[in-house]
Amino acid sequence: MSLVVEKYGGTSVGTVERIQAVAENVAARARKGDQMVVVVSAMSGETNRLIGMARDISSEPSQREMDTLVSTGEQVTIALLSLALHNLDVSAVSYTGFQIPILTDDVHGKARIETIDGDSVKKSLVEGKVVVVAGFQGISANNNITTLGRGGSDTTAVAMAAALKADECRIFTDVDGVYTADPRMVENARRLDRVTFEEMLELSGAGAKVMQIRAVEFASKYNVPIRVLSSFESGPGTLISYEDKNMEQPLISGITSVDNEAKVTIRGVPDRPGIAYSILGPVSDAHINVDMIVQNVGNDELTDFTFTINQDDLQRSIELLEPVVKELNAETVVGDTNLAKISVVGVGMRSHAGIATGMFKALSEKGINIQMISTSEIKISVTIDREYTELAVRALHNAFRLDEIETKV
Ligand code: ADP
Ligand code: ASP
Ligand code: MG
Repeated sequence: MSLVVEKYGGTSVGTVERIQAVAENVAARARKGDQMVVVVSAMSGETNRLIGMARDISSEPSQREMDTLVSTGEQVTIALLSLALHNLDVSAVSYTGFQIPILTDDVHGKARIETIDGDSVKKSLVEGKVVVVAGFQGISANNNITTLGRGGSDTTAVAMAAALKADECRIFTDVDGVYTADPRMVENARRLDRVTFEEMLELSGAGAKVMQIRAVEFASKYNVPIRVLSSFESGPGTLISYEDKNMEQPLISGITSVDNEAKVTIRGVPDRPGIAYSILGPVSDAHINVDMIVQNVGNDELTDFTFTINQDDLQRSIELLEPVVKELNAETVVGDTNLAKISVVGVGMRSHAGIATGMFKALSEKGINIQMISTSEIKISVTIDREYTELAVRALHNAFRLDEIETKV
């Protein structure tokens, strides 16, 4: 008997019929005698619908109330899936994040899981029940409902698998695995049989939303192998796991893009020690994640300081930085949302020179201007004009021949 955690994303539970199809899938496995914990997302579009209603009422809604609101989407699907399982004569019980409880910190909208008390779930499993868990939500020490960031049901699933020491963690979604690029953007993208935690961390961090980055962090920390599968068709999917030294590694595993970033530039900053800290300190204190950072060479002892953030945090960042601009005697702070970040990810970069050059060449051949560049050991990212996102991703996918059988290192 195995303990299996399965997660079904928004499209997989997008209609009552889809929920019934998921129930059939779960029931088949449960009837074989496996213990099943099933994590579900809200029905597709529901989280956005809830956010939209709140925005119609308030341009700066309370973060606490936002979490109370958006967590309801998952409460609907756990109940419906449990009912669909009852219809199939499968004993099932639903749990919200706070009934388990999944304890988080109190950073609303992007809370981190601190501990999971697995006792009640284990008791239900021993009683022979399928346990249906609401993804994306938790509760803070002071009893406020929290959510784990967009796409956070992936993290709930991996965290439950770690807490329960599950034998398998399977993420069911609307694609049949992790691809060399978003298959909706690049027609000839190729499914990867296997990726390492390290590669998946970079792919997710650079925009491959098929897995939320925090879920991959969790999986890597607690060594929970994940299999990404389609809930619409059967197939081997993609295994995300630790690095097997005997396994050949692809030179490049994928091309990703992010088009929800924004750029903040502080112009005319006096070029002296402490500038980066004065600017980024208040931003980080407000729990705003900064991605790329560039400080231009100073002219007349003045410099431009630029960084990128999620575009939802743009307004707040500018508000936080207006007093800083005055304090530093800088010229102004401006925001720009017309950009996209494109990344090439691959462990081959460690040992092969020339991947950056190949990237810049492919972009220049399409006449795409690079604004900022950043690199890590296995990733190169650039920002470009947002209107060229798809063109850039396709050009790079072709330039590195990712549709062909893998180049190994
Ligand atoms: P779910 O609702 O099941 O969590 P998501 O929409 O969050 O599903 O993630 C699945 C989507 O991720 C796919 O539909 C696909 O368009 C997108 N995606 C982006 N990059 C990749 C990639 N490299 N491989 C597979 N899917 C990707
Ligand atoms: N429903 C949440 C979202 O849309 C969480 C998830 O789907 O994983 O972001
Ligand atoms: Mg998702």
